[in-house]
Amino acid sequence: TREEPNYFGAGPALLPTEVLQTAAYDLLNFNSVGLGIGEISHRSGPATEVINSTKQHFKDLLDIPDTHEVFFMQGGGTSGFSSIATNLAAAYLKKTGKPGKAGYVITGTWSKKSYEEAVRLGVDSVVVCDAKKLNGSFGDIPSVEKWSIPDLKDTSYVYFCDNETVNGIEFPDFPFEKFPDVEIVADMSSNILSKKLDISKYGLIMAGAQKNVGLAGISIYIIKKSLLEQPSDAEIKAAGIPLPPIAFHYPTVVANNSAYNTIPIFTLHIVDLVLQSLLKKGGITFQQELNEKKAKLLYETLDAYPTIFNLPVAKAVRSKMNVVFTLKDTSLDSEFLKQGEANKLTGLKGHRSVGGMRASLYNAVSLKSVELLVAYIKTFAESHK
Ligand code: PMP
Repeated sequence: TREEPNYFGAGPALLPTEVLQTAAYDLLNFNSVGLGIGEISHRSGPATEVINSTKQHFKDLLDIPDTHEVFFMQGGGTSGFSSIATNLAAAYLKKTGKPGKAGYVITGTWSKKSYEEAVRLGVDSVVVCDAKKLNGSFGDIPSVEKWSIPDLKDTSYVYFCDNETVNGIEFPDFPFEKFPDVEIVADMSSNILSKKLDISKYGLIMAGAQKNVGLAGISIYIIKKSLLEQPSDAEIKAAGIPLPPIAFHYPTVVANNSAYNTIPIFTLHIVDLVLQSLLKKGGITFQQELNEKKAKLLYETLDAYPTIFNLPVAKAVRSKMNVVFTLKDTSLDSEFLKQGEANKLTGLKGHRSVGGMRASLYNAVSLKSVELLVAYIKTFAESHK
């Protein structure tokens, strides 16, 4: 066992202690079969049960309608960038008989990388909005009136990152209404299961597991079933579109119940244990309320000391998962971190690309941890006024 950590790392992130305790046992001896969960075939009965159970628990937690399918693949967010661009380009070709253009809404580090990957792979892509170009920095989401909405008649999909982990920016509401009949794709790697969603509005949701739902090495996909229709490889090649790699080819993965190749069953089992634990606690409604409480408490505390802290993100788009702030006097950075660690508050250093601090308040971070952080911030700020 362990003392409950007060850990605010951005990912891989904290997991519920009781989940890790069960997982530790299951790694040694799963369901009393005398073998660990990581040692059994990914196509065996117990492994299939893990896959099906995890799928069902996602459906239960997020109210996923029958129009959508859930599947899992090796890899994380970055592999998602590549698989999304290739698979959705192919799905559009199947639907319309011609290649389309993908539209990317760039509001931070991760959506920018995803756009760059689509371009790199040769998937025809345009920028719908580049917040840095419009605002000078990734500190806000420009209003939709300022976006360059492409011709929707040949738009294959529109992509956005719902929560920009590095920049601390989260969409309060994506303007779905501006893109009628266009498939909307969201990267929710750092905020899936943090709030209620209307799944019917999305063509695809992709999330790496290692923040809110589990360990690194696996990713979750929720896809509209119609997007699983793709042309033959020959037709895709003839249209000049890159082929999706076979291990990341959505129709193949779905046809094989997420076990076309070796899905890491131990890693998936941890996801399932996290989902079960969340269902027991009260599901998404419970989690969303708790997340709102935690974020409000921390933002209010930081806002109360405007001479000490700077919050670079516009209030309306502040992330409830990743609270980004800097010290006005950056010479105090190391003292802030060191004293924090002395108070057993860890993982507060900001991303190397933006500096400063970042407190990630993922699902497994308790209100008590946030209260301890807030108490420390107050003491620090009072002594440096
Ligand atoms: N998207 C988001 C929102 C992320 O936060 C991250 C990783 N922090 C990624 C994508 C990339 O994920 P990975 O490192 O698993 O490739």
